[in-house]
Amino acid sequence: MKISFKIAFTYAILLCAVLITLSAFVLLGIRYYLIQQAISQVRSQADTVIKRVKYEHYKVALNDSDLFDTGLYNIGIIVYSSRGKVFYSSDNVSKDAHLIPFNKNINLISKTEVDEKHLVYLNKKIQVNKSTYYIQIIRNMDNEYDFIKALFVVMVLANGAGVLVSVFIGFMATKRVVRPIDYIIKKVKEISVTGLNTRLEIQGPEDEFTRLARTFNNMLDRIQDSFKKQERFVSDASHELRTPIAAIKGYVDMLDRWGKEDKEVLQESIDAIRGLVDDMSALTERLLFLAKSDNGIINLEKERFLLNDVIKGVAQHYRMLSKEHIIEVNCRDDIYIWADKNLIKEMLRAFIDNSIKYTQPGGKITLQALAKDDKVKIEIRDTGIGIPEKDIPFIFERFYRVDKSRSKEHKGWGLGLSIAKRIIDSHDGSINVESKVGEGTTFVIDLPNIIPN
Ligand code: ADP
Repeated sequence: MKISFKIAFTYAILLCAVLITLSAFVLLGIRYYLIQQAISQVRSQADTVIKRVKYEHYKVALNDSDLFDTGLYNIGIIVYSSRGKVFYSSDNVSKDAHLIPFNKNINLISKTEVDEKHLVYLNKKIQVNKSTYYIQIIRNMDNEYDFIKALFVVMVLANGAGVLVSVFIGFMATKRVVRPIDYIIKKVKEISVTGLNTRLEIQGPEDEFTRLARTFNNMLDRIQDSFKKQERFVSDASHELRTPIAAIKGYVDMLDRWGKEDKEVLQESIDAIRGLVDDMSALTERLLFLAKSDNGIINLEKERFLLNDVIKGVAQHYRMLSKEHIIEVNCRDDIYIWADKNLIKEMLRAFIDNSIKYTQPGGKITLQALAKDDKVKIEIRDTGIGIPEKDIPFIFERFYRVDKSRSKEHKGWGLGLSIAKRIIDSHDGSINVESKVGEGTTFVIDLPNIIPN
């Protein structure tokens, strides 16, 4: 069901309910008012007649029309003897004699419906010359009831017409209001993975629809962005894997041709293939980590540990690997940290790996850590070749390598820093780089360090 129908339908039901209630109140109110008016007329008429009868007590003639004339067309009086004989009846109620029992509900104003007549009446008992009589004052309410009936019909017609007109107008108005939704639906149907360039046109004054369209366009921007990244990632990854695969194929061909007899070729090929496979598995490992972090499924296994020990351990490892560099550790205080130990090691390795790769032999690499308030600052400084300023904003991107020619002499895929950045992000930390070409580079990592009790 269309939303415009739903709104118009709900609106119609509500409007009907309101109009019916309102009309019912108006009709009942008018009816109540008219009855009350009739009652007070009957009562005042009765008072007048009784007063007259009492005043003229002895000379009263109970069939004297002057005595009982009300002067009103819709109110009349009937006088009965104690046995029910009619002594007198006003012209306008002469037909109503004996319609209502004359000696019941004495002094009590009552309402009755007889012979399709609506009557309000009052019975009174009087003593005249020691005889008992009954006076019945009758008020005919047919006119009032006809008026109420006519009013009812008019109200039903007017309300019905009002509901129809306002539902029609409401339907047209909601149709107009929800038209942008139809436009959005049409556009969204057009959008597919290949057509992510489509955007919604934003027109008209600022309202929910323009905000929805803007939010939708922003979402499309983000989806498109992540799609592009994904595409680039897949193409970079396959490009990186193509080189070792081609090399392995080369060695396999060589083995096929000469390696079966030549032991030297055989051993050389096996060693080379092993190295290439190790590289590929390291690369896939890194790619897997990045893919996981993209999907937000890195499981942090946080623990409390002494950061100094980890830094010293990693430094010692690299001292063994590279004897040509001076690796200094500068941690004065004992710093305990709440983090994933293995990931922190991985992160430190990424930075120190780079410092060693991009620092000439004899250069110095300094590792420093200090704790301040609820933060830990880790600094990795080297005296290497530095990073050009224009490249600094991109070095944390996947597969980004500064100047291919200078990177060529060093093995790498341009993934180390992006992995390190993901690790820092997953610990809610931040990173800063300061670098000068020819002088060296300093990476400063800030990690929040709130150790739970
Ligand atoms: P790579 O595998 O190329 O080292 P990274 O993501 O670790 O990839 O680093 C990205 C680029 O940043 C590198 O190609 C390198 O040019 C530059 N870089 C990173 N660390 C340093 C450093 N300490 N000194 C100079 N250049 C660096």
